[in-house]
Amino acid sequence: YSISMAEMQVLGVLGRGQFGVVHRVFHRPTKVTMALKEIRLELNQRALQQIIMELDVLHKAVSPYIVDFYGAFFIESCVYYCMEYMDYGSLDRMYPAGIPEPILGKITLSVVKGLRFLKDEMNIIHRDIKPTNILVNRRGEVKLCDFGVSGELNQSLAQTHVGCQSYMAPERIFKTGGPDGYTIQSDVWSLGLTIIEVAIGRYPYDFGSGNIFDQINAIVNGDPPRLPGDRYSELACDFVAGCLMKDSSRRPAYQELLLHPWLVQAEESVVDMEDWAARAHALFLAREAQGT
Ligand code: ADP
Repeated sequence: YSISMAEMQVLGVLGRGQFGVVHRVFHRPTKVTMALKEIRLELNQRALQQIIMELDVLHKAVSPYIVDFYGAFFIESCVYYCMEYMDYGSLDRMYPAGIPEPILGKITLSVVKGLRFLKDEMNIIHRDIKPTNILVNRRGEVKLCDFGVSGELNQSLAQTHVGCQSYMAPERIFKTGGPDGYTIQSDVWSLGLTIIEVAIGRYPYDFGSGNIFDQINAIVNGDPPRLPGDRYSELACDFVAGCLMKDSSRRPAYQELLLHPWLVQAEESVVDMEDWAARAHALFLAREAQGT
């Protein structure tokens, strides 16, 4: 059985990414509301077919920390990717005022468990950890999406990648590492940056001019960003500092991160994530209505 466009009823637009629009759709045969992501690629039929085939392993990526995959197909030069609809959208919409530490701990715990699942069970490096690729739903669940499962797709996305690359680890900028320069440690860096961004409500680096050379210089030669010590505990700051070691070999593995006292504490703490998610989403809707 394979899913197709003919079975979809388009309900609305969820967002726009670099490669196309994400729609909210209703899948008639299963009566499930899904998110349908369009990825525009200049590729031939054979390469597109290859991507659809490679994406198929995602059917096995079943975890409470990973957005469910329902199937993929292509039409002309677009790949369409059907996934679980996360009704509160991505984390970048939920943090304008910054996020209190207990919530931050739970979010980090989910992300690290998701990343460990991808690595241990699927042998996948995420490659694109950032707040827009972490989704939240009304149950307060936090899940990862948009990870690099297809070699063919990774390659064509990397070639077309033009925009801001600023979640990239310092070592990535000079591409040492694997054949394409990507390692698990690079994901840990992006995780550290993402935690700070979610905590303080803005991208952690202040590049000044926004000039690409200044950006590269800040990431490669500057001190890594830190969590503000006046608002977050020493444990939280230490956790993030570990993720953002400039020397990639010193960054902890996922198993070590899960054993870090900050995450052990987050695991044991009782936090009403559903309540936080509802409030953060309501604030987002109010801001949107004001057009800010
Ligand atoms: P990006 O290129 O920034 O990663 P995407 O194309 O993946 O963006 O998605 C664009 C926006 O669509 C996201 O920022 C998010 O708000 C929304 N979106 C993506 N996937 C889903 C989903 N499964 N459920 C709900 N909203 C989604």
